[in-house]
Amino acid sequence: AELDTLDLVVLAAILLGTVAYFTKGKLWGVTKDPYASSLANASGAKAGKTRNIVEKMEEQGKNCIIFYGSQTGTAEDYASRLAKEGKSRFGLETMVADLEEYDFDNLDTIPDDKVVFFVLATYGEGEPTDNAVDFYEFITNEDVNFTEGNEPALGNLNYVTFGLGNNTYEHYNSMVRNVDKALQKLGAHRIGDAGEGDDGAGTMEEDFLAWKEPMWKALAERMGLEEREAVYEPVFSIIEREGLTKESPEVYLGEPNKMHLDGTAKGPFNAHNPYIAPIAQSYELFSVKDRNCLHMDIDISASNLNYQTGDHIAVWPTNPGEEVDRFMNVLGLSEKRHTVVSVKALEPTAKVPFPTPTTYDAIVRYHMEICAPVSRQFLAQLAAFAPDAEARAEMTKLGAEKDYFYEKISLHHLNIARVLDIVGKGQKWTNIPFSAFIEGITKLQPRYYSISSSSLEQPKTISITAVVENTQLPGRDDPFRGVATNYLLALKQKQNGEPEPCPFGLSYELTGPRNKYDGIHVPVHVRHSNFKLPSDPSKPIICIGPGTGVAPMRGFIRERVQQAKNGEKVGKTLLFFGCRKSTEDFMYKNEWEEAKEILGDNFELITAFSREGPKKVYVQHRLKERAEEINQLLEQKAYFYVCGDAANMAREVNTVLSQIISEQRGIPEAKAEEIVKNMRSSNQYQEDVW
Ligand code: FAD
Repeated sequence: AELDTLDLVVLAAILLGTVAYFTKGKLWGVTKDPYASSLANASGAKAGKTRNIVEKMEEQGKNCIIFYGSQTGTAEDYASRLAKEGKSRFGLETMVADLEEYDFDNLDTIPDDKVVFFVLATYGEGEPTDNAVDFYEFITNEDVNFTEGNEPALGNLNYVTFGLGNNTYEHYNSMVRNVDKALQKLGAHRIGDAGEGDDGAGTMEEDFLAWKEPMWKALAERMGLEEREAVYEPVFSIIEREGLTKESPEVYLGEPNKMHLDGTAKGPFNAHNPYIAPIAQSYELFSVKDRNCLHMDIDISASNLNYQTGDHIAVWPTNPGEEVDRFMNVLGLSEKRHTVVSVKALEPTAKVPFPTPTTYDAIVRYHMEICAPVSRQFLAQLAAFAPDAEARAEMTKLGAEKDYFYEKISLHHLNIARVLDIVGKGQKWTNIPFSAFIEGITKLQPRYYSISSSSLEQPKTISITAVVENTQLPGRDDPFRGVATNYLLALKQKQNGEPEPCPFGLSYELTGPRNKYDGIHVPVHVRHSNFKLPSDPSKPIICIGPGTGVAPMRGFIRERVQQAKNGEKVGKTLLFFGCRKSTEDFMYKNEWEEAKEILGDNFELITAFSREGPKKVYVQHRLKERAEEINQLLEQKAYFYVCGDAANMAREVNTVLSQIISEQRGIPEAKAEEIVKNMRSSNQYQEDVW
């Protein structure tokens, strides 16, 4: 048989994988996100900025560098927290550093009275985060070369590591594990354990807290540090600008960068620069009243954005008005919300995470995750600023007692303003320096969505399929609502002229800063992914996409329909879809019928409705019922795709597939598992899970 391009790519990938294995990662090349390099240029490589970490340490008088490899901001946050704690508790001269902004060939010249931290997230299938790719390649390279030629090369280096991972992925915390191994091999001295946080089990924060205490103890011992009463020192100064108002043209009211402020926004659009995209149309996919699932078509025709079927789109949300008000109110900032402020870093290595001058309102609405889970450590830190002794004692208790914190805070998904409101019994917390929030609350993050359209069919319109997060939790009057999906819901309601106030909607500043998003616009950028159809459309495919996991599968199937319409030969296409009830949340039902008309017997939809029969039926059960056919298709080199829930479904599908292969081929399960593993590494088995 002839080899098509994808086969070649796959073969090349296997070869590379094999080479990487035998060379222990020496030649291992990780594809970089095309946007990552432009980010690097935007942030790191500015003229005159040194990439020499040793020089930087000396210049700034630092003895503790905290590097982070971060994708969604959590690792960066942890790095900042460690920096702060190191300084306030132990008097370390700390500095947070983005891995992407430095070179590492002089790591061997860092003297042994200093320490380097590596806070490293693992991304996707065991990959480094975009900003850690170069560092990872460097440090795990067998022939790594340093400037001094010491023996062992890193004999002087003291380091600390913590990894952020998710145990539902196969390569759990592989970044921190591999980097730790590499550093050990080079003779560096690790202080404390190599910590690992698990997002999959939902214990990241607790894992971090449990790891860091013994680590600090070990570090203090090694470096002869004296612990002292931690005193809060602000990292940022907030200067109120009397000469400016929110009407002043130089004041940012939520614009993400200077180009957006000046009205000259242009591409490249990326994680630092969103495109304010018109929403062409939006509609509801569910037919029940209490749950919502949105379909949105985003028009990118007036931008230079492009996408490929299977990519992700990032949506930049704004916080709901009610939560912004609550936050302002509990801090006593309501009156001052439109006061113009400049924010300056008091510490030369700290970065202000948003452009200024701006207003308190804009900072809170557009730049801070004010609705996110709160950290126990943050509450302990805020205790010092409580309005009375009772509130202080309660904050200290919440900060110290894991189970108490869980029961009072986590269980009800309380955000920071709600906690302060409850603990302070309605009093205002006017003593907290605003800097503490800039330091302690994550920067508002874009949310990713698997694009549900086909770029062949509609290259300039990106579809989103998103279920709205709206959960009734014990001990709360109002349901917990997700930030981005309720923002999208509000946009959809406005676009369709639905009556307000809607029963589930929240009020958002939908017209954006200076009404720049008026006419139903949403800020977005595109992230390219490896979740891709075979380049030869005649190859069979098996798609497992229950719930919103159907999003990229819709893109795939629409693409195959288009290919068929263009006269191409399209192979067998199976879609396993699951939801609660055929009458409630059966998304895109009509579209599957249309696909059937074009693709005929080559398309089959297999459904699993979990709440219709006496027993719950899920996609993995349906998969098992089709064991013989699935095995045959795999033997014909069918591509296997899984999208949706990482914690349960994706794992079970993986297990069921191994069972199918084992039973159908009469081989031991271990052997079948090996086959599935190989399918993964050769891209025959692809996952897009969250
Ligand atoms: P958020 O406000 O971010 O809340 C999300 C969750 O965080 C909550 O459910 C809760 O568990 C937790 N949480 C938030 N605040 C608190 C609190 N105060 N206390 C405790 N817990 C809290 N989703 C789709 O619907 N369709 C898709 O196609 C899709 N594709 C994706 C592709 C990728 C690659 C990824 C990474 C994710 C994808 N998602 C998709 C998920 C999506 O990105 C969002 O996570 C989801 O829409 C929820 O966003 P939100 O802002 O509404 O909720």
